[in-house]
Amino acid sequence: MSVVAGRPYLSFGQYMQQRHGEHVHKLSLNASFTCPNRDGSKGIGGCTFCNNASFSPNAKAPDSIESQIARGKAVIAKRTGAKKFLGYFQAYTNTYDEAENLKRLYDRALAVDDVIGLSIGTRPDCVPDEVLELLLAYQEQGYEIWLELGLQSANDESLLRVNRGHGWMEYEDTCRRARDMGIKVCTHL
Ligand code: SF4
Repeated sequence: MSVVAGRPYLSFGQYMQQRHGEHVHKLSLNASFTCPNRDGSKGIGGCTFCNNASFSPNAKAPDSIESQIARGKAVIAKRTGAKKFLGYFQAYTNTYDEAENLKRLYDRALAVDDVIGLSIGTRPDCVPDEVLELLLAYQEQGYEIWLELGLQSANDESLLRVNRGHGWMEYEDTCRRARDMGIKVCTHL
C-alpha cells in the first residue's frame, strides 16, 4: 500500500481501492439492535449525543437486511457505478448478542452478491473474544472485515461527562485483543 501523491496519509477509500482494485462502498444497515448503555445493563438513556435516527437512513422500522442492502446497492451503484460493497452494521451496538446469533445475521449480509465484507460498529466494552473469533473466521475465509469501535474521547473525564458507560481502558483492551488476532480496527471519535 502506498500513499497518494500530495497526501501524507492513506485514506480508507484509497486503501480499499489499492487492496481491491476499485472503490468499495459501505452500505449502512440497521439490524434492530439496542445498546447496553440504553437498555439498563450499562446505563439508561445512552450517551448524551446519541441519536441513531440522525445517522442511520434505515432507522425507522428497518426492512430486512437483504432489502436494505438491495436498496443501498441500487442507489450507490447508480450514483457511482460501484460493484463492491461492505455491509456496514452501523446503528446502535452491533455485537450485542450471542455470537451464534450474530453469525446468522452477518451471514445474511455476506450472502448477498457483491458484498465482499463487513464493517461492524460497536462499543469497545461489548466485544468478547467469541465475537473476535467470529470476525477472524470471516477474515480467514477472504472477506474484508473491519471492527469499528466508537471511542468519542480518550479522556476518561470526558467519557464520564457524556455518559459513555466505559472508559479508555476498555477501548485499549479490545483494540489490543483485535489487533493481536490480526483484525482491522477502525475508530470513530
Ligand atoms: S454507545 Fe452508541 S448506540 Fe449506545 S448510547 Fe452511545 S452512541 Fe448510542
